[in-house]
Amino acid sequence: MKGKGKNVMISLIVPCYNEEDILGLFLKKTIPILQNLNLSYEIVFVNDGSTDNTLNVLLKMKETYKQIRILNFSRNFGKEAALTAGIEYAKGEAVIPIDADLQHPPELINIFVEKWKEGNHVVLGKRITRTGERPFKKFATHWFYLFQNKMSEIAIPEDIGDYRLMSRKVVDALLQLPENQRFMKGIFAWVGFKTVTVEYSQQKRVTGQSSFNGWKLWNFALEGITSFSTVPLRIWLYMGMIIAFLSFFLALFILIDTLVYGVVLPGYVSTILMILFLGGIQLIGIGILGEYIGRIYKEAKRRPIYIIENEY
Ligand code: UDP
Ligand code: MG
Repeated sequence: MKGKGKNVMISLIVPCYNEEDILGLFLKKTIPILQNLNLSYEIVFVNDGSTDNTLNVLLKMKETYKQIRILNFSRNFGKEAALTAGIEYAKGEAVIPIDADLQHPPELINIFVEKWKEGNHVVLGKRITRTGERPFKKFATHWFYLFQNKMSEIAIPEDIGDYRLMSRKVVDALLQLPENQRFMKGIFAWVGFKTVTVEYSQQKRVTGQSSFNGWKLWNFALEGITSFSTVPLRIWLYMGMIIAFLSFFLALFILIDTLVYGVVLPGYVSTILMILFLGGIQLIGIGILGEYIGRIYKEAKRRPIYIIENEY
């Protein structure tokens, strides 16, 4: 790790989905930082099926900077797939995924590399402020992490995004994970290795819009939980036990009540409530089973995570 020179390469991985307006500025800010590192570098852009001019902008930029590589997806596969592709194709001794929208300050790369040279395998960027995010998103993400970390064996550190540095060893470990449904934050955390955290404040998106909102975020959260925890499946065992236990006492109560007071007709409301309640509980249980079975189904098909139309 010591004495890194020009022959040591670092790779930047930039997933891009409709980022035509921002890429120029992104390079303008990033290239000088990379040049000052005195290492060789490559920037792997993954064009995730953009519907705008992103690909042409990238191709144009590649004419000026030969360090640029472009993976062009055949359609939009999502950020997780784009990151996976980038990590697979990256040649560097250290790999840094970074968003194209400049929400991840490129200046941090200096510190990432410094910490890596000190012998750390993973350097995490922790957001201490999240400028430009709606309060609801912050609130929802906070609860997601609380929930997620209570339920799974792998703790995903809060406020850690995909912005980080990973050494070649870590990347090679990541590549051994064969799963199709890739919740990258979880996968990153799962592999372990010696890790340090550096803090930064997240900036506003320079132009364009976040593509993670509402429904997409909810699905992302479900993905995260079902990928790394089987607690939702196990809950039903205990739920069933508790309900069976309680119903035993209810049965006892009704028996004694009937013996003492004789048979009385009222009981309509409690019967209906019981049916509705148990019906609801069962449906939730089946729904959760379905969620996992769906994941097994998708995984069993062994489809590739992404399709590359062309590599430039
Ligand atoms: N992105 C992608 N594919 C998608 C959605 C997003 O490659 O389907 C990229 C996007 O271009 C950006 C990064 O992922 O570089 C983060 O996306 P965004 O800013 O929309 O998300 P947020 O910052 O709100 O998490
Ligand atoms: Mg963003």
